[in-house]
Amino acid sequence: MPPPQPSPGGGRGNALFACDALLPSGWARNVLLRWDGAGRLTHVQPEAEAPADIPACEGPLIPGMPNLHSHAFQHAFAGLTEFRGSGEDSFWSWRTLMYRFAAQLSPAQVEAIATWLYVEMLEAGYTSVCEFHYLHHDRDGRPYADDAEIALALLRAAERTGIGLTLLPVLYQASGFGGQPPNAGQRRFVRSTESMLRLLERLRPECDSQGACLGLAPHSLRAVAPDALKEALAGLDAIDATAPIHIHIAEQTAEVEACLAWSGQRPVAWLLDHAPVDARWCLVHATHMDADEYRRAAASGAVAGLCPTTEANLGDGLFDFEAWRAAGGRWGVGSDSHICVNAAEELMLLEYGQRLAKRQRNIAADAAQPSVAAALTLAAVQGGAQASGRAVAGLSVGQQADFVVLDASHPALAGLCAADALSSHVFASHRGNAIASVCVAGQTRVKDGRHLLHQDAAAAFVAARSQLLTASS
Ligand code: ZN
Repeated sequence: MPPPQPSPGGGRGNALFACDALLPSGWARNVLLRWDGAGRLTHVQPEAEAPADIPACEGPLIPGMPNLHSHAFQHAFAGLTEFRGSGEDSFWSWRTLMYRFAAQLSPAQVEAIATWLYVEMLEAGYTSVCEFHYLHHDRDGRPYADDAEIALALLRAAERTGIGLTLLPVLYQASGFGGQPPNAGQRRFVRSTESMLRLLERLRPECDSQGACLGLAPHSLRAVAPDALKEALAGLDAIDATAPIHIHIAEQTAEVEACLAWSGQRPVAWLLDHAPVDARWCLVHATHMDADEYRRAAASGAVAGLCPTTEANLGDGLFDFEAWRAAGGRWGVGSDSHICVNAAEELMLLEYGQRLAKRQRNIAADAAQPSVAAALTLAAVQGGAQASGRAVAGLSVGQQADFVVLDASHPALAGLCAADALSSHVFASHRGNAIASVCVAGQTRVKDGRHLLHQDAAAAFVAARSQLLTASS
């Protein structure tokens, strides 16, 4: 009898056999996985016999990566700001250009951009995404007839592509610390706390019906004054006291200086003193912390949301990963502005930034997990799952069957043992796609390296971007 064809998760029942699988405890051999009709793992057994009637995957199996920070619409803008303007270019001059771009977008364009982005994410090893969604209103700043119009476009993009979603509507009210009035470029983002709570109520059943998680993102301490932050968190708790809370914080030194001038405290210290920061929170970037902030923020149980390629692209600065790990801090990765959409590459750049700063090698590994790629992958999956508020914490019973099969025939991986194949995937695949297939909740979404919607979604994205560039030229 011919061996069963590898078709992980698709059409052959809810089971898969992997010769090598990266479990939370490390690499295991001959692992049999089973999941239920909802896509939850019910059985993860190492050292199993290979059953004849269950498909076997052709390459090493690793957990799907949660992407903990995304602004989908910015993907159409990636690569378009890499030229020197007048004076000193920085995050702030980039933001001015980004606002100009955001001012043009229609809901249909956002949906086309997000659909292609999520296809790319799935092909690049991300199986879920936290969408930090702040483009709420029409071009003139007025709410759409259905206030949830663009949020619903994002939900549809996630459903169509099959990526898991944590939707984080963003509260945005001010242009600077202490409640400074918003500027014209922010008109599509701004809303009252009361209208945000109404939006959450509106979105809750929509999210529930497709297995998405709904949380809240106070944009930053710049954009939300203390009273509004308090009120919004109380309102969120009344809706769901376990919902995730994400906030941009301490990404820029200018932000730290403005916060000191306003309150006498640095942003992370202020937040820890004035908000109930705990394991529900994701501190996005948290790039600029002092020693005490590293220690206190890690002890809070919050996840640090690291976005290495965006932080490099925007010249933000370097997170002190060693200080964070020494304090027991949890962390995950996000593709944020989507200058790069590749889970392995975020991990690589995170490690390389630390190597350059410390003049050492193999920073993220330790005695318990000496392989840098495995240590980075396992920690980022755990932290990403916590920030997502979803059961996507890797290959163990009770978690969703979200996984990636590496392409064992890729020249960078061929003939290597599983641990070396993952290392090559992260460090030495030269940006070529070394992923064979990807499953979300047990369903195959990427096969032979390609998402089923690849061609159509790419064409719609290119058309949307062309319209935008024509409109803004
Ligand atoms: Zn962001």
